[in-house]
Amino acid sequence: MLRVGLGYDLHRLSFGLPLWLGGVQIESPYGCVAHSDGDVVVHALIDALVGPFAHTDVGELFPDNDERYRGVRSLDLLREVRRTTLKEVKIHNVDIVVILDSPKIAPYRSLIRESLAEALGIDKDMVHLKAKTSEHTACERVECYVVALVEKI
Ligand code: MG
Repeated sequence: MLRVGLGYDLHRLSFGLPLWLGGVQIESPYGCVAHSDGDVVVHALIDALVGPFAHTDVGELFPDNDERYRGVRSLDLLREVRRTTLKEVKIHNVDIVVILDSPKIAPYRSLIRESLAEALGIDKDMVHLKAKTSEHTACERVECYVVALVEKI
């Protein structure tokens, strides 16, 4: 049975913090304010993947008031979800849209696709990534939308 999952996440940006997107550190004067590493791409991706069959979300799986997850690498959470919650789920493809005014993430596109494909154990060709800007209407935040096609096996 095939199902489509949708995920969304947003984080506020602040100077002096690291910026992680899809498990890749982006060179940037500012990064996400978050309990974890604030990786919006991974958070939205987890939501897209665990919604359709497990009926849960990243906040329920990894609560942001749980000290175990303070500063955690979100990519490690994705690997854990892949091993556990998604054990019986085949991931056909994921499509990601990141909305960020600056810095440009196009130079990191291939690295991010590789990083996520490796964590999910799927081919890089199945991970698509588009970068958009907010046209300077939302300079102090980064947003991400993800859709995923998944199948119960
Ligand atoms: Mg988040």
